[in-house]
Parts: sequence; structure tokens; C-alpha cells
Amino acid sequence: MLVVHTLADLQRALAPFDSPAFVPTMGNLHKGHLALVRMAKPLGDVTVASIFVNRLQFLPHEDFDTYPRTLQADCDHLAATGCDVVFAPSEKELYPQPQTFKVHAPSALGDILEGHFRPGFFTGVATVVMKLFQCVFSQAKGPRHAVFGKKDYQQLMVIRQMVEQFALPVTVHGADIERAEDGLALSSRNMYLSAQERAEAMQLSTALRALGAAALAGEHNLAALEATAMHHLAQRGWQPDYLTIRRRVDLQPPEPHQFRAGELVALGAAKLGKTRLIDNWEL
Ligand code: AMP
Repeated sequence: MLVVHTLADLQRALAPFDSPAFVPTMGNLHKGHLALVRMAKPLGDVTVASIFVNRLQFLPHEDFDTYPRTLQADCDHLAATGCDVVFAPSEKELYPQPQTFKVHAPSALGDILEGHFRPGFFTGVATVVMKLFQCVFSQAKGPRHAVFGKKDYQQLMVIRQMVEQFALPVTVHGADIERAEDGLALSSRNMYLSAQERAEAMQLSTALRALGAAALAGEHNLAALEATAMHHLAQRGWQPDYLTIRRRVDLQPPEPHQFRAGELVALGAAKLGKTRLIDNWEL
């Protein structure tokens, strides 16, 4: 496996190949990330992972400085999973000048849910993914594939819409959420949790499942469903941002007659102590 830190070295590494399959990450890799790499492997003739903690998608009070950076361990995991090329640029390499050209998601998708609680987040995500696509796919002659996790459900939708509206020649694949045995969605941020918080953390996925079950069992009052789920977590000491049911197709609230299995997703974000967790279940 080749580990490259500059664009020039990335171009050299990819020159012999026609069809990269690409997995963008921020590092501190766990089984969820590695599942994306496994999904990517058969899609192209070279498997590329990027590791870059993208300042643009963090708010000033968020954890950019303390976000775990574990490059050597990440490369060991990636090599063992069969990744071919790791692109781990410095900030200066990827953003040699301030990145003032940006990609904005449409407000109806980018300013709701995560975008409401983390203003500018999806601009940061879309901008870096557009740039990383340029870096990885610029020499490709064959099909280009990129794999994202459903853990970041709204992000996957933002990327899909960006690819569609800019007619980018990239096929986007969504991978199912990898979970710990108790149901907690794997996340780099789980390492911030104390032992006590870690034991409690699975309650977010449990609450979302209960919310989804209630919705499919006939409770179609969305506000009531949301209030019950948020109250449940708040009573356990969480600070919930949102727990809701949305249409999979556009993440808008379903009309009462649209409460049907196969068309909905339960999404949530909540803080446990200082750690903000997100999760979702397709219903
Ligand atoms: P991140 O490093 O957090 O930016 O995540 C990089 C990619 O891994 C994104 O596409 C995430 O959705 C995906 N990912 C993170 N955690 C999981 C998980 N538990 N299961 C599946 N995909 C995940």
C-alpha cells in the first residue's frame, strides 16, 4: 500500500490505473470505515482512501483541534483491508490558499437537521468532497466510484445531489451502518465517551428504533412522536438536538398518509456529556 501526502505523488500513484474506487475519511478508522473500503475494492482497479480532518466542516466551538489523529494505526488497518493508496494531505497541501470558492448544498437539504444545528457543515463537506474527487478522479479513464456510509445519512444525500446536479462522472455508493454489539453506531467520536457514557450511548439507537416502531404502528402525529423520543432521552440525561422521522427521498417530514415502511428514516442527534452522537435507522 502506498501512502502519499501530496497531490503530485497521488497523481503518480494513480497514473497506471483507469478506475479508482474512493473512500473519503477523516481518519481514526474503525470497522465502519473498513467496511466502506471492503465495499470499494471490487468496484475499481485501484482502491483509494483519503485521510483528512477538514477544518471547513467544523464550527469554531467544535472539536477540530482535539479530533483524534492516528495516521499510523489507520494505515495499518487500511493495508490489512487491502487498500492500495492512502492520500493523507496536510492542510497546506489541500488548501494552499484559503478555500474561498465553495460548494453550497440547497437550503432545503443542507440547512435542516444536521445543517440546522451545525451551520455551514454541509458546505464544508461538499467543498472538500468536490476537491477530493478532483484529486482522485482527474486521470481516470474508466468508471469512477465513491463509497460513503449511511451513518451520515444526510451527508450521503448531499453528495448524491451534488454529483447529480454537477453531472460529475462518479457513481456514489451508500454502505450500511456498522454497529457495536449493543447497537451503538461506530464513530470516531465514541472515544470521547467515559465508561459510564459508553454504556448509556446505545440508548440513542434504541430510542430511534422505538420512534420508528411507533411511527409504523400507526402514530402519525410527527410532533408527538418527536416529543416522546426527545423527552425519553432528556430524562436519561441527554441533550437531544433532534429525533425525527423523515421521508428517505428528500428528508422532509412525511404527510400522515406517507407513513409507510420502505420510505422513511428515523434520524437523531443528541449530546451525552460533551459528546455529540448521531444515528439513524431506515424504516
Ligand atoms: P468520517 O471519518 O467520520 O468522516 O467518516 C468517513 C466515512 O465513513 C463516511 O462516509 C461515514 O459515513 C462513514 N462511516 C463512519 N462511521 C460509520 C459506521 N459506523 N458505519 C458505516 N459507515 C460509517
